[in-house]
Amino acid sequence: MPEGEYSVPSEEPLTWQRIETDDPVYKELIEKNKSVVTRHLFGLQELNTLKNIQDELEKNPEDGLFYKSVANSFLRTSLLELQKISYIDKGIGLENLIYEVMDDDEDVKKNLIQIFPDCFLKTEEMGLMIVNSYEISNNIEKIPLNLYKNILEIHVRNHQKHEKEITEKHLEMQAKLIKKIEDGISAGIFPLDIKKVKEKLSKIKVVAGDFLLYSDFNSQDGDYDPDNETAVLPTGEVSIVREDDLDFEHYQEYVYTHEMMHALSGIAVLGGKKNGEDFSETRLQRLGMRIEGKFTWLNEAITEYLTLKIFNKEDSNAYNNERRILQTMINKGVPESLFINAYFENQEPGKGSPAIKKLIKTINEKCGTRFLQIIDDSVDLYGLGLMADELTRENEK
Ligand SMILES: [Zn+2]
Repeated sequence: MPEGEYSVPSEEPLTWQRIETDDPVYKELIEKNKSVVTRHLFGLQELNTLKNIQDELEKNPEDGLFYKSVANSFLRTSLLELQKISYIDKGIGLENLIYEVMDDDEDVKKNLIQIFPDCFLKTEEMGLMIVNSYEISNNIEKIPLNLYKNILEIHVRNHQKHEKEITEKHLEMQAKLIKKIEDGISAGIFPLDIKKVKEKLSKIKVVAGDFLLYSDFNSQDGDYDPDNETAVLPTGEVSIVREDDLDFEHYQEYVYTHEMMHALSGIAVLGGKKNGEDFSETRLQRLGMRIEGKFTWLNEAITEYLTLKIFNKEDSNAYNNERRILQTMINKGVPESLFINAYFENQEPGKGSPAIKKLIKTINEKCGTRFLQIIDDSVDLYGLGLMADELTRENEK
């Protein structure tokens, strides 16, 4: 081959096929992902960068002005990032952050009130309240950078405290949930094996979510990632608990329950291999009712429906439209048990998926052919709210 030329070995495409849900290659991949520390914490990166800049400054004091301006530009960028978050989540995160830092530090509190005198109100019953967070986010550059750095330090320190608390509380929540699922199994609601439930729940990693990053983006404060079996829960800094009838403690447990339903839901796993080789890659094809990224609305509807059942709660503020669509199917005669059985069914190779097939067949009969597919295709176009309105109206006729 002439110098300077090289050949790229042609990539042989992988062929995918269904593998056991407890395939060792798949399990190993999850454990590997789980061991990676993922820290979703607003401000941490900025503070680490500032620390590095400070170190450089000490080594090169003659370049003091330069390093100072670099540090300031980092803080200014972060402040604008906070402003952006505040516009997206309607000021909820920023409000929580201000309450958090004012609770923690009297000087920071005094400073903030001085900078934004019209944005706070002191009342007898409620104490000091933020009455105009929009004004604060619109004028966020009024916060001096050294004060902002202080705010970030408080936020990061508090978060690390919460992370420790959640690790301790996690086992307590787990034991309570196992008891409730045990009751649900006896009542014939959950088609689950309690031994497997215990085994699975004990493996889930539970971390604290930063309310600035997990706030109002999807009307929920938690998250579950099946690829690293990690659940994110809200921390005690959230002043706005989304469920009016729950105090924070119970709200956190409620979110935990929702995320653990995802963790316990049935899966289908694909293994990818090149000709004649062992599996070199695996991927999750299905989690609960979410199949290849589709039917997320149905998956969340059933997850929240089960969470309500476990909590003996009538209604919640989460996934309303999704649950309304689920309800129209139940009203048309699709038994609730079919949804639950399908949701928890693992798909093992060679065994088929009788519960999922039965659910889809029944939905087609009761609600019309390709009902789920049609809803799923229309969601992007019309939005869930409109679809739920239309179906509910039709249902009431
Ligand atoms: Zn969910």
